[in-house]
Amino acid sequence: MSCGNHHDTNCRDVLDAAFLFIDDELSDGTMRHAIEIHLEECGPCLKEMSIIRRIKELVFRSSGDSAPDTLRKAIRGQITQLRLTMTEVEIRSE
Ligand SMILES: [Zn+2]
Repeated sequence: MSCGNHHDTNCRDVLDAAFLFIDDELSDGTMRHAIEIHLEECGPCLKEMSIIRRIKELVFRSSGDSAPDTLRKAIRGQITQLRLTMTEVEIRSE
C-alpha cells in the first residue's frame, strides 16, 4: 500500500510499528518521530492508523486488558478486511 509519494520512512514500517506507536510503547524516539512526520505526509497511513486505533479501543473495551499477540494478529486480519471493504466503498462512490 502506498500513496505514491516518496517518504523517508516506508509505509510498511510505519504500519508495522502502528500498535507500539498507538500504545506509546515505541522506545525508539527516532522511529516515533519518523512516524509522526510520515503521518503528516501520508493520508493512507493516517487513515489506517485511525482504523487501528478504533479497533484497539473496541478490543480494550471488551477485554479490559492489553491485547495478547494472538489477538493482535487477529486484529491485523480484521484491518486487512476493513481496508478491502473501504476500498470497495471508495470505488463504488466514485
Ligand atoms: Zn504511508
